[in-house]
Formats: sequence, structure tokens, C-alpha cells
Amino acid sequence: MKSIKFVYLFEEAEAIDKKLLGGKGAGLAEMTRMGLPVPPGFTVTTEACLHFYENKKRLPKSLMEEVGVNLKKVEEKTGKKLGSAQNPLFFSVRSGAAISMPGMMDTILNLGLNDKTLEGLIKITSDGRFAYDAYRRFIQLFGKIALGVEEKEFDQILNQTKEKTGAKEDTDLDGDHLKDICKQYLGLVKKRTGTPFPEDPMVQLRLAIEAVFRSWMGKRAMDYRKEFNITPEMANGTAVNVCTMVFGNMGFDSATGVAFTRDPGTGENILYGEYLVNAQGEDVVAGIRTPKPIQEMKKEMPKIYREMERTRKILEEHFHEVQDFEFTVEKGTLYILQTRNGKMNAQAIVRTSKEMVSEKLINREKAVLRLKPQELEQLLHKRIDPNFKGKPVAVGLAASPGAASGKAVFDADEAERVGKLGHKVILVREETKPEDIHGFFASQGILTTRGGKTSHAAVVARGMGKPCVSGCEELRIDPKGREAIIKNVNIKEGEFITIDGSRGEVYLGEVPTVDPEINKDLLTLLRWADEIRTLGVRANADTSEGAVKARQLGAEGIGLCRTERMFNAANRLPVVREMILAGSKEKRAEAIAELLPMQRSDFKEIFRAMAGLPVTIRLLDPPLHEFLPSAEELAEELRKLKEIDTAFSTMENISDAMKFLDPSFRESLGLLDHVVTDIVEIKEKRLDKKLIRKQHDTLRKVKEMMEVNPMLGHRGVRLGITYPEIYKMQIQAILEAAAELIKEGLDIQPEIMVPQVCTAQELKWVYQLVLKVQKEAEKQYRIRIPFKFGTMIEVVRACMRAGRLAEVADFFSFGTNDLTQATFSFSREDAENKFLPLYNQRKILQDNPFEVLDVKGVGRLMMIAIEWGRRTKPDLKIGICGEHGGHPESVEFSHSIGLSYVSCSAPRLPIARLAAAHAKLKEKEKKPLEKYDPDVFGIPSV
Ligand code: PEP
Ligand code: MG
Repeated sequence: MKSIKFVYLFEEAEAIDKKLLGGKGAGLAEMTRMGLPVPPGFTVTTEACLHFYENKKRLPKSLMEEVGVNLKKVEEKTGKKLGSAQNPLFFSVRSGAAISMPGMMDTILNLGLNDKTLEGLIKITSDGRFAYDAYRRFIQLFGKIALGVEEKEFDQILNQTKEKTGAKEDTDLDGDHLKDICKQYLGLVKKRTGTPFPEDPMVQLRLAIEAVFRSWMGKRAMDYRKEFNITPEMANGTAVNVCTMVFGNMGFDSATGVAFTRDPGTGENILYGEYLVNAQGEDVVAGIRTPKPIQEMKKEMPKIYREMERTRKILEEHFHEVQDFEFTVEKGTLYILQTRNGKMNAQAIVRTSKEMVSEKLINREKAVLRLKPQELEQLLHKRIDPNFKGKPVAVGLAASPGAASGKAVFDADEAERVGKLGHKVILVREETKPEDIHGFFASQGILTTRGGKTSHAAVVARGMGKPCVSGCEELRIDPKGREAIIKNVNIKEGEFITIDGSRGEVYLGEVPTVDPEINKDLLTLLRWADEIRTLGVRANADTSEGAVKARQLGAEGIGLCRTERMFNAANRLPVVREMILAGSKEKRAEAIAELLPMQRSDFKEIFRAMAGLPVTIRLLDPPLHEFLPSAEELAEELRKLKEIDTAFSTMENISDAMKFLDPSFRESLGLLDHVVTDIVEIKEKRLDKKLIRKQHDTLRKVKEMMEVNPMLGHRGVRLGITYPEIYKMQIQAILEAAAELIKEGLDIQPEIMVPQVCTAQELKWVYQLVLKVQKEAEKQYRIRIPFKFGTMIEVVRACMRAGRLAEVADFFSFGTNDLTQATFSFSREDAENKFLPLYNQRKILQDNPFEVLDVKGVGRLMMIAIEWGRRTKPDLKIGICGEHGGHPESVEFSHSIGLSYVSCSAPRLPIARLAAAHAKLKEKEKKPLEKYDPDVFGIPSV
């Protein structure tokens, strides 16, 4: 059997193979072959690490032999020798997996030091202090990592010596102190391990390699992999990089530092970084001394600075990516010790992507892929200033991104009143209802104590692009006391609070924020994304302003216009209530006739804003009781009315009683006299009685309509079939609005969509109604009114009967909010702040399915529906309009299962556009649809 090669010299590694050599090893190999000044060395592969674990933590038999052969070559290159007293070679031994896991595994520096080589080091450097310092660092690091001696025992010795000698810092210790510390350290190791500190450098090397391998399965590393879902497919085992030591602390012609090839904060094309003269890397990390900006090197070490500039160019031209590299200068010679792709903020990624395309370093596809849709989120909303260090007072659900400050107010009317006075307002409610809509308009942001990410507050706020924190259960609202209580803090109405809807956090007072940054570079990047993607992107919008904004942000139509929002405007709600409460058909017809022109003009405005693009209008969906006051509110009002009625009866007699009063009071009681007269008049008109009767009727109706599970009850198409007048009016309004604009010469593309459908018969019933109304409208306007007719797929049965539904429907749109609710039997109103957090924490569920589409359950139902739907109608257009339509992973999934478009709230459009482009570009890595298995989509298996 051919033996496996476990060790590669840096210059030897042919193809760059991160899985085999680890990221660091691959980088060192690559830089060596590019001719950059990398200290000589070799890499022990991740395969050796796997072998180690498969063989009871024993190194492969041939490994140390292979190490010995490669060591010879390094010795030849450097002219130094491991273990030599004259010209000693020292190594750094560093871990490095395929995926960077910063600080999670172990590293040993100055390996090769022992009593003999120490003498050599003293001779070469003529610096005893430096040599003993290196030795004590090595004994401590090796003792801890390879031999398992506790770090605090070394620290104790160091601190005792510092105390004894009066040294404040480590740097105050002289050579003799350090020599003494080394002696004590060696004694400690012998005491704890029972054997002397290993002097033989080859033994040191073997133990160090084993220790690095062990750190792959250390708690830190395992926790990190779990947290970031690093699977064995991504990184399996760590490599070990054995690299010649170079010292940045050999005097004032030596230095060490870290640099970026461009500014990672702004993306500016300049060398960026920090360095310290006469220091080791550790000193930079430990923060003992403050490093200098790299620009100072221009004056201090001009030759090195020029080399750094050259290195920066070489690195970028080779890696086609911004690099973050470590360097050391040893006695005037520059060495590069590591390079990796630089981590940058979103703003810097956008700028560098655009500029690197102009510089022909990367192509447009790469530029688009560099910006992750999640990172783009940072640029689209106001954020809490990253320099702000305060702590939130409470945490709820991150329901709609962005940060906002304002005066806390506890009802929508007050929000409107205070807002109109020009103040900033945060509407704080237990939960919101459609009738709170004017409060949303007046507010900077919304905070609720109940409800999840698809609750009314969350969905409406997202649609408006306003921040929202929902389900903040730590907060209790006292409506009577007009205050909110969090733990023991009372927030009085009118006091400032700040919410961060991107993180779900609530702060007291006005916290500084930074503005969103949609600049020209980002627009260019999004344009490139549009050129790449094949998945359509539409917006969920229900006002003409929303439609205009959506168009500006790149929407290719409206995928969901929720008509119920139009019913909630202050001037409409009373008419809608009349319609619902009407005792007779005639009365209902009157109310509906009043609503028709209003809806028609709504649709006209939206169509106009979207001329040339499709607009999907959904017929009324929510249960009607949502438009009525609650039974509790009504009962309370009724009680008050009755109290007034009783009070009126007693006051009637006051006039008579007054004549017994002292005549001198009479004049001042004149006002009361007036009041009494008014009361008598009210009584005669029986106004109070009428009102009481009306409230009684409303209460009765509300009780009649009450349902135990309203979201599974009288809503959607069921409502349309039982109250056909409502659907008829809406269809008429849609077609007439379209007709009027077509007559103006505009290209109008209405799409009528029916919610909550579970059987083809329901859909057929509505379709007949549409045809009837279309006929009437075409006759009236004397033109042809084209429309498309479709259904939402948000009920499990609809997925199973998709083949039949497609006989009637021109299009499907997945309502994944309800479909998720129906698939899991998790209430979308309650689950997210009741048990889902615990489910996520215990990894029972990896994600919140109301936020990240559950591809394994809901996704599979979608695939069934797509398959059967397209069997009936191959060109069936299929979209998604649930909240998942703007979530990057879900957009990717939507692309992979062949959806025609995603529809999301307007502010999320740039994210969806970018995610759709990513999905297209990553398509090559994915399985074809027929082999597609949800169990292997995504990383975690639930
Ligand atoms: C859905 O259920 O996904 C949907 C878009 O409809 P709504 O959220 O209005 O119920
Ligand atoms: Mg729905």
C-alpha cells in the first residue's frame, strides 16, 4: 500500500487545498510559491489529525520520520539547526483548520529552546534578557498546552517575582529575574508531571503536534463549531504549521503587526494596520502597549513600508480579495507569517466590490457574491451607533429591523396627538389591532409585549419600514397608570425610549443612531445582481406610497396587496362596521355602495404607481370581528352608558330641589341649571336609551361572531362565500379601477387572488363571480379588461390538491405564514414568545420557522404543490408572499424549487434581489430538482 504523505513543505504544496492543509497552511504555501518572504517551514496535514483520532490519539507511525526529513530541508534553507548551541533554529507550531476558528485552538512559540540552545540564542543576540524572556514564555506555553500544567501556577510564580522585585510590568523584570523565573518554571513542570521538562527538541515537536491535534476536540473548539454550524464537510481536523521563528523583539530594527490590504472600516484602497517596534505578537494581543498606525512606518521604517506596499499589491493580485496579514520584522527583514481574507463591515464590502471590479481584480459575479444578504441589512436601516456601550433594559423579538427613539405612548390616539405636535413617538401596546393603524403612521417605531414576528404589529411595521420589537414579555403595561414597567423601572408616558428592531432590544432614553447608507456603489452592485438573477422579486404593498417606494427599490410588481389594510383608515372603519353589523341585505348593500368608490380609488392609485407591472390584489382575508371593538371594550362602554343613564334620572329632580337652597347660591348655580335643562332634553330625545340599545346590538353581534380559533375560522374565501357582496364589491373595484386606467392608455395588469382556499370548488365559485363582474364592467366601460386569477396556497389541503386548483388558477402564491402555522400547528400569534425560544435554545428546532422557511416540512409541501400544479399547467406562475419572501436562505430555497418570484416588504427588496442573485450563482453547487432531498438541504438535521 502506498503510504500517505502527511507532511508538506510550504513550497511543495502544489494545488491550494484548504481541507488538507488548513486555511493557514494553504495561505503559507501559496505565499511561499508567490515568492513572498515567508519563514521556511512545513505543514502536517488534517489527514494526520484524523488518523490521530482514529488510532487512539496516536500519531501515524511514519509521521515523525517524515517530519525529520522535512526538518532537514528547512535547516538547509535557513542555515540553522534545531537543537544547535551555535546556530539554533526555533519554531512556532500553530493550528489551522479549513475554516478559520480564531483563538479556539492552540499555538506554541519558541519551540526548540532548552538549556543548550538558550546559550546559543544569548550568544547570537547578545541579549540575555531577550533570550530568557523567550525561554520563560516557551516553558509556560508548552507546559500548559503540551504537558497540562495549569496556567495560573506559572502566573503565580511570575507575580511573586514581580512583587519581590518591585516590578510593575513584565518589562520591568531584568535578565536575572527572568532567569530565576525560568528555573522556577522548570521546577514546577517537574513537580506537576513527575518528569523533567523535555530538552530534546524532536520530543518537544512531537508533543506539540499532538497537543495541537488534541485542541481540535477541546471544549472551546467544539463549542465554536457547534455555534457556527461548522460541519465535517466544511472542516475536518486541524493541520499543524511548523514555521521558523522570527523575532520582532530583537531591538529597534524589529517589529510586529497586523495589516489589511484595504481599510476594513471604509473600504478605502490604502494600506491599513498597526504595528509595534521591538515586540512580539503577544504584546499586541495582550494590549500591554498601544500599537501605532501603519502610516507611521513610512517615516520610521521607510524601506519596510515600501515592501509592505508591494506585498499588499502582490497579495490582492494573487488572492483577488482583501487580505488581512500578519508580519514581523526581524533585524530589518520583513516576514509575512499569515494571510487570510479580511473581514470587513458591509460598507467596506460594497466599496471594495465596486472598486475591485473597476480594477479588474474580480468580475461582477464575484463582486455580488462578496456581499452577503444578511450583511446588506446593516446598510438599509438606521442602526444604534456601534460606539454606544449602554445595555438594553429588556429584550423581545426582532420583528422589524432598524432603530428608533421617541416618547413612549400607550395608545394609538395619543400617538397621533403627540405625533401631530411634532414629537417623535414609540407606540407601546400589549398587541396591536387593525384599528391602531393611525398610531403606526404617527410613530417612529412599535413595541409590543405580546405576539410574534408575524403578528399584526410586526407585519404592518415591516410593511411600513418602521422598526418593531414584538413579544417583549418582560414589559408590563399599566394603561390606567399610563406607564410601562420593566423589572423595577417605570416608564411614564412621554418618557423617551429607544428600540432596536434588528436585535429586539429596548433601551431607556434616546440612544444615538447612525443612518442607513444606500449609496451609488450599492446601487451598482444591486444592478449587477439583477442582471444575474432569474428569480423575480416583487413587493408586498398596500398603499400607493408603498408601491412607489417598492418600485424605487427594484420591485417588479406587487405580489401581495392586503386589502384589509384599506378598511382600517379612520374614515372607512365606521362604514366597514356598518357593513358588518347591517341587520338586513339592504342595509349591507348601502354600506358596500359607500365602500366601492373608496376601494376603486385605492386600486387606481396603486395600479397607476405600478403601471406596466403586475399587481396581485388579495380579496378580503381576516375574520370580520377584527374590524369590530372587542366584547370587553363594548361591555365596559355599556356599563358606563348605564351609569350615565342612572345619573341623568337622579339629576332631573335637582331643579326642584334647588329652590330650597339659600337664595344667595342661586346665581352661581345657574350653570347647573343649564346642565339640567340639557339633560332633560337628552332624556326626552331618548339619546341615552338609543345608544344603549345600539351598543347592546353590537355586543350581541360581536358575541355571535366570536370564535375560539378565529385564524382557523370564518376568514378568507369562506368569508367571501358567506358574504358574497363583499368579494363582489372588491372584484368590481379592481376591474373598474383597471378599466379607467386602461382607458387613459396605461398598461394595467391586475391579478385577483383568493386567500385560504382548500378546495377547487371554492376557487371555482369565486372565479364565476369574477367572470360575472368582468362581463358587467366590460359592458359598462366598453373595453376588454384583462386579469389573471389565482390562489394563495396557505392551507395544507391546498398543497395536496394543487393539481385541481391549477385547473382554475393562473398563478399560485404561497402564504407561508399561514402554511407554517398549519403545518406545525403552532399559532403564529403565540408560538414565538411562548415555547419557540426554548425549542431553539435546546436545538429541538434549529430556527424559528416563522422567520426561516422550514424547508423540510413546509418546503416539502411546497414542492408537492409545485409539482402537481405544473403537471396541470406547465406555465403556472408560482410565487411566495409570506414573510419568508425576504429572508435570504428562504429566497435561495425558493429559487432552487423553481418559484417564479418572491414577494417581500419593500424595505427588504434589496436583500431579496441580492439573495436571488446568490441563489443563481450557487446553483451549480446544488442538486438538480429531481434528486432534491429536503433532508440534505441546509446543514442541521432536525
Ligand atoms: C401568509 O399567510 O403567508 C400571508 C401572506 O398572508 P397573511 O400574513 O396576511 O395571513
Ligand atoms: Mg395568510
